[in-house]
Parts: sequence; structure tokens; C-alpha cells
Amino acid sequence: MALFHIGSGVVEIVRRYSNPVKEAWASVLLELERERALTRVRALNAEFEGIVAASLDANSDDEHDPEGATIAFERQRTAALRARAEAHLDEVDRALARVASGNYGICRSCRRPIGTERLTALPVTEVCIGCAG
Ligand SMILES: [Zn+2]
Repeated sequence: MALFHIGSGVVEIVRRYSNPVKEAWASVLLELERERALTRVRALNAEFEGIVAASLDANSDDEHDPEGATIAFERQRTAALRARAEAHLDEVDRALARVASGNYGICRSCRRPIGTERLTALPVTEVCIGCAG
């Protein structure tokens, strides 16, 4: 019985870490990606707050001031970019969670391994190239 447990433990370890290089590489890529995504979210946050502060400083007596329209457009654009950056940060975090749980690089849809080339190009992907199409 004990032997069975040890044996199944080994099988589990091999199954999970059958491609340790891929997982280690993914961790490195994902940590770098996370750093970049976080920097981008912070920068866009600062930009957004700057625009809001500038629009509060600006003379807003005239609603039809063309400056006001430009500021509104910039604020909207920055908010959209920030939302996208935050969504990407979430993707990176979910990918890191999959690395931690041993599910990284396994297609969510067909449960087959995702190609290394695809993972290198798109480290946060959850589906293989066949299921993505
Ligand atoms: Zn698939």
C-alpha cells in the first residue's frame, strides 16, 4: 500500500513536471511579463489621474470648449488602455497560477499540451493552436 502511494506520487510528479524546462521558462517569461504589465498599469493610472487633475484645473466654465472635448477623449482613451492593461495583468496572474498548480501549457479545451513555440510567443495562452482557430 505504501509502495503504491509512493508510486502514484512519482507518477503524479512526472505527469506534472514532464517538461520542467518549459515550466521554468514559462515562469521566467511570465514574471517578466507581469513586471511589464504592472508598470504599464501604473503608468496609465498616473496618466489618467494627470488628465483628471488637468481637467479640474482647466477653466471648465464653457462646456463647448474644444479643450474640454479633447480632455474627455484623452480620458476615455487612457481609461480604455488601462482596462486592457489590467485585463492582461489578470491573464498573466492566471497563467502563473496554472504554473503553480501544474496545469500550465495544457489546453483548456482539448487537454492536450500546447506547443512550446505558441507558449513562447504567447505565454498567457490557455488554448492550443488547434482550439484557438
Ligand atoms: Zn486544444
